[in-house]
Amino acid sequence: MRKDDCIFCKIIEGKIPSAKVYEDDDVLAFLDISQTTEGHTLVVPKEHYDNFLTTPKEIMHKVMDVAQRIGQAEIMVLGAKGINILSNVNKEAGQSVFHFHVHVIPRYDRKGGFTLEMKENPKAKDLSLPALASEIKKGL
Ligand code: 5GP
Ligand code: ZN
Repeated sequence: MRKDDCIFCKIIEGKIPSAKVYEDDDVLAFLDISQTTEGHTLVVPKEHYDNFLTTPKEIMHKVMDVAQRIGQAEIMVLGAKGINILSNVNKEAGQSVFHFHVHVIPRYDRKGGFTLEMKENPKAKDLSLPALASEIKKGL
């Protein structure tokens, strides 16, 4: 299924050009236009699913398999020293294109154009981690 107003569906259909890195029947990988770091790649299913949480498992596994191979290539060929794998879900988490995609972001040093900081919550010491873990388990 394609979504008419989806920019990634248009890229998949070839209506918008992209620099393709990989393609098979189910998955497309192409360079992110922002090139946060050189080689920043997006891996997407060819079918439209809104995000990571709504994508069927078998499709997600195919996308992650390609993301892993691209990460390996970025280290081997581009000389990246590391990579970040990221999938934003919903606008609160920074998702701006609502077609499931995985960012594969090569890292050459700690500076670069990409930062991801997980600050310690000042309230962390007041939280009951066993209680929180039990809450999440209820939803599984
Ligand atoms: P999100 O913010 O949803 O996690 O990521 C969406 C990504 O899509 C952004 O990093 C943005 O640069 C990229 N993007 C948006 N429009 C286009 C486009 O037309 N072509 C390409 N190649 N990337 C795009
Ligand atoms: Zn789409």
